[in-house]
Amino acid sequence: MVSQLTDAFDRKFYYLRLSITDVCNFRCNYCLPDGYKPNSNKRFLTLDEIKRVGRGFAGLGTEKVRLTGGEPTLRRDFVDIVAAIRENSAIKTLAVTTNGYRMARDIQSWKDAGLTSVNVSVDSLDARQFHAITGQDKFRQVMEGIDAGFAAGFKKIKVNTVLMRDVNDRSLATFLDWIKHRPIQLRFIELMETGEGTDLFRKHHVSGEVIRQQLLERGWQQAIRSRSDGPAQVFSHPDYQGEIGLIMPYEKDFCLSCNRLRVSAVGHLHLCLFGEQGISLRDLLEEDSQLEALKDRIQEKLQTKKQTHFLHQGNSGITQNLSFIGG
Ligand code: SAM
Ligand code: SF4
Repeated sequence: MVSQLTDAFDRKFYYLRLSITDVCNFRCNYCLPDGYKPNSNKRFLTLDEIKRVGRGFAGLGTEKVRLTGGEPTLRRDFVDIVAAIRENSAIKTLAVTTNGYRMARDIQSWKDAGLTSVNVSVDSLDARQFHAITGQDKFRQVMEGIDAGFAAGFKKIKVNTVLMRDVNDRSLATFLDWIKHRPIQLRFIELMETGEGTDLFRKHHVSGEVIRQQLLERGWQQAIRSRSDGPAQVFSHPDYQGEIGLIMPYEKDFCLSCNRLRVSAVGHLHLCLFGEQGISLRDLLEEDSQLEALKDRIQEKLQTKKQTHFLHQGNSGITQNLSFIGG
């Protein structure tokens, strides 16, 4: 029997978000406004180390892994990473969060290697605004990537949209038209405050509640979560093929249903997106024979996971931006 990861507050952890690189080719204004700055001291996890992370978590009851970054698809061995994680039969869902820039070209090969689910970030359906937010004139390419995803056989594609006041908070009708006949789950993520993003946060943060109210007024209904689902509250409507998700980390009790852990691209275990330095696992990723020791460390450190984050007190811990831990 697989021992299930459980913390001191009896929360069970079925979901791992694994960052495989910090490198990114976009410059999203809420994440890496000045672009990625290479740091020659950083060595990202190798394929073998990633395999061992996958095995360790699979042996601890993880059912879902999300590959993230930086931009995970920039790794040349991305397809091999997908295949390596899927070697674990316990991992039923393997997802990627991507800026979509490589999707049109490569998504079929990702699917063939075993990827089961894709999240692509699209903050605006206006090509010029998309360019202004991401620093890349790639709107059309990303849209073609989504079409390629459906053509490759993905039944549903998730889209992440960071909700920002005076940017896209009045665009619900446009987004709803877009998903009317497309099986897209569009998830509004509340802008999160990071160490580098305080001014932007003050200017643009708006609660997802404004979207929730509009959805309820238009007859949308909230669905029930399953145990390895992410943090979104999902809404559906009989006239729409698509769904809307809301991710509201500032809402009271957000942390009660936490079911996910994170490993950064340099092999640190993070018990929360915000607030701690991370626990190095790297010394236990050198040999296959260290598997049991790796599992023991993860299980033991999980007992120190706090009940909640401290974002409400304006404390974003050490998280300078989300590109090094993957959002
Ligand atoms: N590069 C990939 C992408 O953009 O999809 C994966 C990494 S990115 C850090 C993961 C997710 O975090 C994206 O959907 C992005 O929009 C979101 N994100 C980044 N910074 C954020 C912030 N300050 N607040 C809310 N979401 C943020
Ligand atoms: Fe890159 Fe994703 Fe951050 Fe945008 S949100 S800069 S695409 S890591």
